[in-house]
Amino acid sequence: MPADTSHLNAALIVAAGRGSRMGHDNGGLAKQFADLGGRTVLSWPMQTFLEFPDISFVQVVIHPDDRALYDGAVGDLAAQTLPKLLAPVPGGASRRASTANGLEALKAVQPDTVLIHDAARPFVDPDIIAGLFTALETHDGAIPGIAVADTLKRATAHGAIDETVSREGLWQAQTPQAFRFAMICAAHEAAAQSARTDFTDDASIVEASGGTVGIIPGDHSLRKITTQADLAWAQARAQRLTQMETRVGQGFDVHAFGDGDAVILCGVKIPHVKKLSGHSDADVAMHALTDAILGAVGDGDIGTHFPPSDPQWHGADSVVFLEDALRRLKERGGRLSHIDVTLICEEPKIGPHRAAMTERLCAVLGLSGDRISIKATTTERLGFAGREEGIAAMATATVALPMW
Ligand code: MG
Repeated sequence: MPADTSHLNAALIVAAGRGSRMGHDNGGLAKQFADLGGRTVLSWPMQTFLEFPDISFVQVVIHPDDRALYDGAVGDLAAQTLPKLLAPVPGGASRRASTANGLEALKAVQPDTVLIHDAARPFVDPDIIAGLFTALETHDGAIPGIAVADTLKRATAHGAIDETVSREGLWQAQTPQAFRFAMICAAHEAAAQSARTDFTDDASIVEASGGTVGIIPGDHSLRKITTQADLAWAQARAQRLTQMETRVGQGFDVHAFGDGDAVILCGVKIPHVKKLSGHSDADVAMHALTDAILGAVGDGDIGTHFPPSDPQWHGADSVVFLEDALRRLKERGGRLSHIDVTLICEEPKIGPHRAAMTERLCAVLGLSGDRISIKATTTERLGFAGREEGIAAMATATVALPMW
């Protein structure tokens, strides 16, 4: 049912805790606002849920005193995902009460399902989310869990073993925990009215109300940050996940001269006694640069994505190709560091137009001028460029891409 996109799915992140177990070691800062790879712990699961295609809303529950810390976490997120984010709501006196406040707020958008997640579990694998949605097709709720591998002992308060407990069928419950929205709301309302205060997760609240909860294999990376040792583990993992690598791509292009009165190079129209012929605007420099970026990403070339046989690119402004390559880079979490373009021709002279070309590329690429190099050379009158039959362009693009 929930994999069907006609259903609305919401994520509810409970981030209202005060982190008492981290205590003074962490300067009193709640663990969900600790630094993790240069951003807050909370922003990690927020980003995962905001980027998950079948999740339409993300609701966070915070402690009323933590609004500034929450705003800092939001500042760590990719701006294009933010429209899914609902305004935070304040938590209550217990985790159960905090979750109930979040569910109440979500009633305004009437989701069909909700994933309830502990903010202190920063690493949510999208495959787990997908697995939970599948399990919800046959259950009222579904949670990820780890089958207990260690032998279990019950001990006395004095540290002596009382008995060995069978680990048969025992699982450690993790989050996110997925539920049909109407079911979890009704179960929470019943729990609020009961005398029980021993609910430690949302699945137990649904179990108590008679609902069925499925369990799917969880992951050790869903580990909850409770102690300083947990935080150190998470920081090492975050560092690995955010590691970037430098890549260099190259591009080369040639266009022949035809009858005309101007050429377009790096998006700048330069008066000349000829034009460059080609299917698009024949901006040989932008074509080489587009191929350089695609090369760095390892995603084909300009002809793969914009076949010359396709009539819609006839006379096209080549900025379309360059922006597409840039989009492909950004989709992989990459960023452009530097570009270097060499134009090879006798005429026109490039020098007088270099500043305008740089300015145009700054605007298109979002780079500062010191990260853009435009050079020109002749071939000493040798070859096709020397005979003024056309213009060649070479380009390199240096990019930073996530390593993992
Ligand atoms: Mg070309």
